[in-house]
Amino acid sequence: MTEQYDVIVIGAGPAGYVAAIRCAQLGLKTACVDDWLSSNDKPSLGGTCLNVGCIPSKALLESSALYANARQDFAKHGIVVPSIKMDISAMMARKDKIVNELSQGIGILFKSNGITLYSGRGKLLPDKHIEIKEFGEEEKRTVSADNVILAPGSSPIDLKAAPLDGHLIVDSSGALGFSEVPARLGIIGAGVIGLELGSMWRRLGSEVVLLEAQEKFLPIADDQIARESHKQFSAQGLDIRLNARVVACEVKNNRVNIDYEDATGTQHETVDKLIVAVGRRPNTSDLCAEEAGLTLEEWGVIHVDAQCMTNLPGVYAIGDASHGPMLAHKGSEEGVMVAEIIAGHSAQVNYDTIPNVIYTEPEIAWIGKTEQRLKSTGTPYRVGKFPFSASGRAKASGDTTGMVKVLADAETDRILGVHMMGPHCSELIAQAGIAMAFGASSEDIAMIMFAHPTLSEAFREAALAVDGRAIHLVKK
Ligand code: FAD
Ligand code: AMP
Repeated sequence: MTEQYDVIVIGAGPAGYVAAIRCAQLGLKTACVDDWLSSNDKPSLGGTCLNVGCIPSKALLESSALYANARQDFAKHGIVVPSIKMDISAMMARKDKIVNELSQGIGILFKSNGITLYSGRGKLLPDKHIEIKEFGEEEKRTVSADNVILAPGSSPIDLKAAPLDGHLIVDSSGALGFSEVPARLGIIGAGVIGLELGSMWRRLGSEVVLLEAQEKFLPIADDQIARESHKQFSAQGLDIRLNARVVACEVKNNRVNIDYEDATGTQHETVDKLIVAVGRRPNTSDLCAEEAGLTLEEWGVIHVDAQCMTNLPGVYAIGDASHGPMLAHKGSEEGVMVAEIIAGHSAQVNYDTIPNVIYTEPEIAWIGKTEQRLKSTGTPYRVGKFPFSASGRAKASGDTTGMVKVLADAETDRILGVHMMGPHCSELIAQAGIAMAFGASSEDIAMIMFAHPTLSEAFREAALAVDGRAIHLVKK
């Protein structure tokens, strides 16, 4: 007999596993199919985010930042350390341990919520039937559900000009597992992933060259923040070459020769390792039988409406494989929304308040509209800025780089965007998210008491600055 569920989720990344847990919390009989295998061929829940994305990258960024701080900053605090050495295999082992523990944690959450887990590959058939090929089983099985949530995630885009060899030319996953620090490291793509990986290996001692096809640096960020951060990254030794399109690569004598084109012609570069970080595409090539009739858009993105419903009734798509930015928290929020809709509640995701974070140093974080966007749409706005150099806490911590910038509607004073660059901005941006979710004005933030001395005060001062009232800014 075909096993029948209220909900089947394909994919146990941050979109799928969160959807499955919320469905189970709401009393729905739920199953989840996931085909991720760790490097030792064991099923590992958590998808890209947990296995080769958000978590391992942040674990390594943390280790590399500590190393760099110990070398560069400890002496300023009077801490004298005779010699500092980096043990790359210990750093990697720590990262792997974190990944394993968190992945096993999802298994425990599944068990405690009564979610049936199928480890293997799922495929959508007509009429909400799912064919499952479990690992280690010869026979496929078919299960069915009243509702299906597709959360298959995404994979790195290949570049014909730089075919991966898994050793010298790797994608972002490979770059999280180098066994030694490459002397000279090339990265194709100066997007979020390229910058994080570049920063991490730079701190550990690599010379890093980023080749970016676009003329503009970080076009998704606020122009001013992009400009300022470009200066900071260059000062750290990241060699960012814009308008540099990689056209060919060749492995020779255990190094990689790269040809790229810029405004003046074809240029050459040679590196010890090359990371291809040119974006990601949805995992939808073998997700669905043709007869099921799922509509895909360009690049294999699953077509959905604002409630993540596909063209097939009762079939939803969330996370990287559906619309919107490829961010873990965006997928998780969609998972919760869809679970609640299936359970008969009304729910929605506010796509206007998705936080974006780049975990470099300085950290870059923003939410809402950029200044260039407000200009292009002719929206009247006022700006309030506050530099961390004027923050007592930033000074005491020894990191005064960057600023907070608040953009508020010139007529209603409602906050339209907040842009940050500096210490702990990945955490500070949540305050802007809360403010914007409640439709706050800059005046609302200005009226709130913040603890002193904290970095958070910079957000309040920036809100005060919208009306020219920042206390700790020299009057111009
Ligand atoms: P995924 O996490 O990709 O999970 C999908 C799962 O479905 C996988 O386990 C996959 O194997 C499985 N699957 C696919 N097809 C099938 C099938 N047919 N049958 C069974 N299983 C299937 N985002 C952030 O928000 N913050 C960050 O700091 C961040 N850092 C990142 C760093 C790196 C290096 C990378 C690569 C990504 C990073 N991301 C970050 C992006 C984030 O990882 C993704 O947005 C997120 O993982 C998407 O979640 P998802 O659930 O949609 O898909
Ligand atoms: P993201 O989409 O944020 O992951 O960034 C990927 C970046 O890779 C984009 O900024 C692209 O412009 C860049 N890119 C894509 N193809 C090439 C190429 N052939 N050479 C250099 N950069 C590229």
